[in-house]
Amino acid sequence: MNYFSTRNTGEKVSSAEAIVKGLAADGGLFIPEEIPQVKMEGLEKLSYPQLAAELLPYLLPDYDREFLKQATEEAYGPAFHGKAGHTVKVKDGLYALELWHGPTCAFKDYALQLMPRLLVEAKRMLGRTEKTRILVATSGDTGKAALEGYKDLNGIDIFVFYPNDGTSEIQRLQMASQQGGNVGVYAVEGNFDDAQTGVKKAFRDPAVEVQLEKRNIRLSSANSINWGRLVPQIVYYFYSYFRVLEQENLPFGTVIDYCVPTGNFGDITAGYYAKKMGLPIGKLICAANQNNVLADFFATGTYDANRPFHKTGSPSMDILISSNLERLLYNACGDEKQVAGWMKELSEKGVYSVDEQTLETLREDFAAGWCSEEACAEIIGRYNEQYGYLADTHTAVALGVAEHFITERPMVVLSTANPYKFPRVVLTALGQEAPLSDFEAIEQLEKLSGISAPDSLTMLKNMPERFKEVIPAEKITDIAVQ
Ligand SMILES: *Cc1c(COP(=O)(O)O)cnc(C)c1O
Repeated sequence: MNYFSTRNTGEKVSSAEAIVKGLAADGGLFIPEEIPQVKMEGLEKLSYPQLAAELLPYLLPDYDREFLKQATEEAYGPAFHGKAGHTVKVKDGLYALELWHGPTCAFKDYALQLMPRLLVEAKRMLGRTEKTRILVATSGDTGKAALEGYKDLNGIDIFVFYPNDGTSEIQRLQMASQQGGNVGVYAVEGNFDDAQTGVKKAFRDPAVEVQLEKRNIRLSSANSINWGRLVPQIVYYFYSYFRVLEQENLPFGTVIDYCVPTGNFGDITAGYYAKKMGLPIGKLICAANQNNVLADFFATGTYDANRPFHKTGSPSMDILISSNLERLLYNACGDEKQVAGWMKELSEKGVYSVDEQTLETLREDFAAGWCSEEACAEIIGRYNEQYGYLADTHTAVALGVAEHFITERPMVVLSTANPYKFPRVVLTALGQEAPLSDFEAIEQLEKLSGISAPDSLTMLKNMPERFKEVIPAEKITDIAVQ
């Protein structure tokens, strides 16, 4: 089974090539030419790493099975503290799939603990000898998760750029204290857009490419448009499905809905593939914050990014261009020229409209809603009080939206960040006055909730800050070619 671009189905590549390339030459995203059907017998008994090793070969058929077995064991073993895919009951019929028990307390660990291994192996399989240089612009979570995933890997180095005044104190310290011999971390003057624009400029600069090529270095990104980042995320839909059946004593085939806090549409796209591979998922509910471009899209068929950008308490979902939607558009309409046309309109005018039929097809699998900042704070307070469940801001957005879509079917909400990553916002939502320091806020929140913060976060208080440099965005290019 091969992959082709959403904008040109003629050119086929193996999964290893798709992962090395990241983006297709025509700007499209790689998707599998057909979606394999999974044999379900026995999967319910497997541990998380075992399940990953069983499922990944369906979508990465050119990789050696033994390699995948070892890679998934290394990625999802001790680093997840025995809680990979941890699925807990919040209240009757409602479950939280807690995806933040990994090394950086963010769901992006699932992709970024495995994808770097897939990349190194793909280069080996394809006989590629160049050094890969990863550039990441991050508003917080991706940077740290990528640093942990790529640190000290052969043939790779990684530079991360975050906005000097755009992350929480915890997020900043997570990156500034990063270990590893092949990593660099820089605070960029300005906001996330300044950092992102600087990184994009380096990627597009032909002089950068020429200079690097002389030294056999090639730039790459850790963004979620890479198939290697999407594919690991399919596994936890299967894992959580079986955990709900187990806890509710239900037979295989029972239909379960999933509600996903959404930004770049990567996580929920993985759920779509899980469903098409045979997992009995009912609706995939896309939950947005005040940046509700996706909720409007599913309501009207028009994707309109020309709107004010809101800085919210769920910053990882503050996105107006959700890149992974392109994969769904192709699957819904099956017409590469049509997809290329819509994406051209999006880049030129910031808006496109799909036809009735495509919208209908999308609505068979997806529903969408959004949650205001006030509603999100109310949810955090109410779930803590009524159910003893402490949710972070991103999870709260999904809980809020899920309430509008709940039926007699079980519902799983994806819980994407540990509440202690955003301790001040969570404290405020609980009606407390938040102290200025994140660490004091953590202590208060621990007392209030009775749940202790993960060591990897509290430890940061005493970690030396290794990276202190603040640079203007114009310097990103110099760092890319250093
Ligand atoms: C990245 C992120 C999201 C959004 O996931 P997408 O795949 O971009 O839709 C949601 N919550 C948290 C905490 C995240 O870090």
